Amino acid sequence: MTITGDQKFLKNINRMALVRLIRSEPGLSRADLATHTGLTKSTVSLLVQELIDEGWLAEDDALVTGSIGRRPTPLRLDTTRLALIGGDLSLDFVEATATTLTGEVLEIVTRQNPRNDVDEILAALADAILTVSRHVQDQGRSILGLGIGVPGPVHASSGVLRSSAAAGWKDVPVRAALEQHLTAGGLPIQPILLQRRAACAALGEVEFSSMQIDEPLLYIHLGLNVGAGMFVRDRLLSGHGGFAGDVGHQQLVPDGPLCTCGRHGCAEALISLRAMSEALGVTPNEFKARLAVGDAKAHDVLRYAGHYLGVMLHNLWSTFDPAQIVLGGPCCRLGDAYVDAARNTLNQLAAQAGLSSPNVTVTRFGEHAVSIGATALVLHQLVRPV
Ligand SMILES: [Zn+2]
Repeated sequence: MTITGDQKFLKNINRMALVRLIRSEPGLSRADLATHTGLTKSTVSLLVQELIDEGWLAEDDALVTGSIGRRPTPLRLDTTRLALIGGDLSLDFVEATATTLTGEVLEIVTRQNPRNDVDEILAALADAILTVSRHVQDQGRSILGLGIGVPGPVHASSGVLRSSAAAGWKDVPVRAALEQHLTAGGLPIQPILLQRRAACAALGEVEFSSMQIDEPLLYIHLGLNVGAGMFVRDRLLSGHGGFAGDVGHQQLVPDGPLCTCGRHGCAEALISLRAMSEALGVTPNEFKARLAVGDAKAHDVLRYAGHYLGVMLHNLWSTFDPAQIVLGGPCCRLGDAYVDAARNTLNQLAAQAGLSSPNVTVTRFGEHAVSIGATALVLHQLVRPV
């Protein structure tokens, strides 16, 4: 690295430290920032001006302090000039979302995948990304980057999805394919970052929370598949080979129902939307319809799955001791019985050991948690240059 490169890098570390400070405490002035960071006032002023020019920060009206001299001007994140783009790549649908720096949704486009053809699915995702990106550009916003939630472990530097057991995909060059489509569409967005779907959703909780995050934070995605994202010490836990969080294949019932991975009794074969639908011998949509009309058998299946979700949460809780557990994904919207049954089982198991159980909440981002989380992946990377 050249000296100039080093200086640029150091400058960016300082710039993003200012952004993180203002994000956690909106209203800080330039003088406050100098005190908090130990940077000189003139350096802070220079960096703040750059960040204002680029659309990261905005100034509010100066405070009336009663003292003589220049009044401190409160600073905050600017939500009007920049946009983050996120994509959700899954087997049954694709989704693209644009958000502001604070996670406010600007636009969401969702498209169903008629067949399991990964090239077709990537083209549909690129098309959805182009649609939301053009929309925010028409609003005069600049795009900071693109994050993609993918259904399996990724090789981060090459942008390749290593495998997805449920979809039957292996070594899919997701980044290269999207680069090609976006360039052909006249919008070569950079950078393009990839992360597992549940890990993206975990970042959405962390980056777009207005409150202090309790760490470790464990996020569980519950849909056709089951995955987890763990946020600890200000970082995602990705594991040695990017496989951390593949909790859907922990065995809960030896000799239980057959799983997509070839083993029996995995969590995914008991608590996923796929498993619940198969237990009734219907499609996921038919299962949802039967729940909606109060079908007793469908509700029994939902409670039974919720119970095993509680067992899985107990196992994860006793392994990682998370301060916060957040649930998300389509299963959480099937009915209260699912999460209630999980909480009951978790509470019972904790009580048996004389412990009070952890706090379990459901994500506020609903069915869009992954694509919104994918926009948070971009922000996460940009504000932490080291
Ligand atoms: Zn499995």
